[in-house]
Amino acid sequence: MSLIRDDGVVLRAQKLGEADRIITLLTRQHGKVRAVARGVRKTKSKFGARLEPFSHVDVQFFSRGSELISRSLPLCTQVETIAPYGGSIVTDYGRYTAGTAMLETAERFAENEGEPAVQQYLLLIGALRTLAAGAHESHLVLDAFLLRSLAVNGYGASFTDCAKCGLDGPNRFFSLQAGGVLCADCRVPGCAVPSPETLVLLGALLSGDWRTADSCEPRYWREGSGLVAAYLQWHLERGIRSMRYVEK
Ligand SMILES: [Zn+2]
Repeated sequence: MSLIRDDGVVLRAQKLGEADRIITLLTRQHGKVRAVARGVRKTKSKFGARLEPFSHVDVQFFSRGSELISRSLPLCTQVETIAPYGGSIVTDYGRYTAGTAMLETAERFAENEGEPAVQQYLLLIGALRTLAAGAHESHLVLDAFLLRSLAVNGYGASFTDCAKCGLDGPNRFFSLQAGGVLCADCRVPGCAVPSPETLVLLGALLSGDWRTADSCEPRYWREGSGLVAAYLQWHLERGIRSMRYVEK
């Protein structure tokens, strides 16, 4: 039996019986963890409000085995709020839908329970903080998060240099298979030819150049979102369900 302490973001809270919940978290050290929170659906529970989706919490788990992954789910025995991002996310439709797609994407990329996914965890914390602050369009925060999530999971896209031969950009032909833009010599059938402004936008989102991303015309935002969604879909076996609710 052991006590394990970690901090994490609540991805999901599912009902379990009359008063309990199964909480899914993306944690700093243990990747995805599912744990039981007892009595959280009673009105007086101090746990309940802290274990809502989007919350960044410090949690103590009690596990029968020596690891967090064993036959029976660990129990949450203590929860302290680090940052209650949910408060300013769930009250705004644009932030809420973008945030929900982020949580679902983070869970998909951190599929193996107990396997550390530190970069994915750090990306999620940063994206939720930015989303909650409301300094940028919610769909841009989402697209930046999706491009960076793909990158830390081995699917980094190139939006300037040719993804095949490395020829200096700008290059125009965007290929999902190739993982970015291709030059005229490397182009393959079925490439998209997005506006040059859209490719600049996507590069800015990937590198965190918010000044460029914020000042882009909405039509390029829309075209960029379409390419990001297609690229994400290409690399994930099943699509992200909550993407369809995101306002573009
Ligand atoms: Zn090339």
